[in-house]
Amino acid sequence: MKHPCLDCGACCAAFRVAFYWTEAQPENPLGVPAEMVATTRPNILAMLGTDGPDIRCVALKGKIGEQVYCSIYSQRPSPCHDLKASYENGEISPQCDRAREKHGLAPLTPDVWLGIVEKI
Ligand code: SF4
Ligand code: SF4
Repeated sequence: MKHPCLDCGACCAAFRVAFYWTEAQPENPLGVPAEMVATTRPNILAMLGTDGPDIRCVALKGKIGEQVYCSIYSQRPSPCHDLKASYENGEISPQCDRAREKHGLAPLTPDVWLGIVEKI
C-alpha cells in the first residue's frame, strides 16, 4: 500500500518552513540547496515559497491531494523531518491535521496505516 504522504503534500503548502542557516549549503554540503532558500532573519532561512501568503514549498512536486514528492527528500531540513503524519507513530499530529484541513483533505485515521510497512 502507498504511504499516505505520497498522495497528500498538504504540510509542504501550509506552514513556513524555517531553520538555521547551518542546515543549508554551502555550510552543509549535503544540506538544502542554496538556491531553494531565502534569508528571513539573521541566521534563519526558510524554504522558498513558504514565507509568504500563498504557501507552497519550491521543492514540492506534483499535485496536492493526488500525487506528490519532495524533490530534495534526502536533503530536506529539520522541520520536515520533525513533522509526523497523524498516527504514523500511533499519535495524532495536529500540524498534519491542520495542513490537511487547509487543503480540504480529511484527517488521517489509524486504519490508514494498516498494511503500510514502509515508512518514508
Ligand atoms: S504529514 Fe500529513 S499533511 Fe504532511 S504530507 Fe503527510 S499526510 Fe500530508
Ligand atoms: S523541503 Fe520537501 S518535505 Fe520540506 S516542505 Fe519542502 S517539499 Fe515538503
